[in-house]
Amino acid sequence: MTRKDTKLVGAGRTPALHAGAVNTPVYRASTFLFPDVESMFDNSQPYTYGRRGTPTTRALEDAFCELEGGARTVLTPSGLSACTLAILAICSAGDHLLVTDSVYGPTRVFCERIAKRYGVTTTFFAPSAGAKLKDQFRPETKAVFLESPGSITFEVQDVPAIAKAAHEKGITVILDNTWATPLHFDAMGHGVDLSVQSATKYAGGHADVMLGTVTASAAYKDRLVQAHGDLGLCASADDAFLTLRGLRTLSVRLKRHQESATELAIWLKGRPEVARVIYPPLHDDPGHTLWKRDFTGACGLFSIVLHQASDKSVAAMLDGMKHFSLGYSWGGFESLILPAHYHRSFPKKFEGPLIRLHIGLENVDDLKVDLAAGLERLHAERS
Ligand SMILES: *Cc1c(COP(=O)(O)O)cnc(C)c1O
Repeated sequence: MTRKDTKLVGAGRTPALHAGAVNTPVYRASTFLFPDVESMFDNSQPYTYGRRGTPTTRALEDAFCELEGGARTVLTPSGLSACTLAILAICSAGDHLLVTDSVYGPTRVFCERIAKRYGVTTTFFAPSAGAKLKDQFRPETKAVFLESPGSITFEVQDVPAIAKAAHEKGITVILDNTWATPLHFDAMGHGVDLSVQSATKYAGGHADVMLGTVTASAAYKDRLVQAHGDLGLCASADDAFLTLRGLRTLSVRLKRHQESATELAIWLKGRPEVARVIYPPLHDDPGHTLWKRDFTGACGLFSIVLHQASDKSVAAMLDGMKHFSLGYSWGGFESLILPAHYHRSFPKKFEGPLIRLHIGLENVDDLKVDLAAGLERLHAERS
């Protein structure tokens, strides 16, 4: 069996079709020309119109499909549109949708606004539900939408247990698999029907692309392709090219992100200003057992909960960082920091401010010095 880091190198590449070039070039095309009427209406034509795919976008779809172990991948212009496409492909008016409470915020808003307007009712459930989620199934429940771990609070879900319970009732299982990437969580192997990625994050990996993917198992392939086409979704050849380039180094980048994140997470746990570190690879993390059972690795994204601190002292900490920049997103080569508790919808269950860190590819000692100085500023402002 070919291992995933080997697949990352070869997936989606067909040099013989591109003058021997190692990489599939950027095909910027809206229009493909046909030599005659017969070929214009030949359904086996691989390329008919830019929105329906070009050799560049197809190469990326094939690469993701192979990595995710699915039957077909489609590309969307953002990770969020990949989440909403998966829901739209499955749910109809009158259906009930179960969504994890830890879901990416804008996905929640889509359910509460658009899906609701189209007659789909959403219930948000505790990410710790596991097989007990079946108590919340209704006759009209059509799909469960998981995200494991959540991208701010990092609860790991029992995906195989939920998938088993869902499939007993014919309920579709959708997973936002962005944190683990296809490299570290085998979504299809754990019973997921539709696996969603924000390729904007680690697959792109360089903070210069917006892109989403949805991968379907064989049973869902046709429904996915049809909804994708009906909604008119597509991605640019340039963005597909950059994401293909990012994919080639995904395994080495992730290894470094995980190593540095683990070192900093352990160090932060020992700091007096920090009440808690939430990172599933840590042995005492509530999600550790499931993470260890189901995942083959982690990434560089985790959160810390500070002891009670004023907004002013948190701002003093974050405003003076040298290597951690303030920014949404994650998965690029650079370190980022985000005061997640500022968000309106943030759950109130934490002891103090929750700071999300993306650990980039900088030298880990420089990052440690930066964080230590930040915590000193927090301390100074507080006292
Ligand atoms: C960022 C993110 C998305 C949305 O991706 P975009 O490319 O920003 O639209 C979806 N899910 C998770 C978990 C994310 O972190």
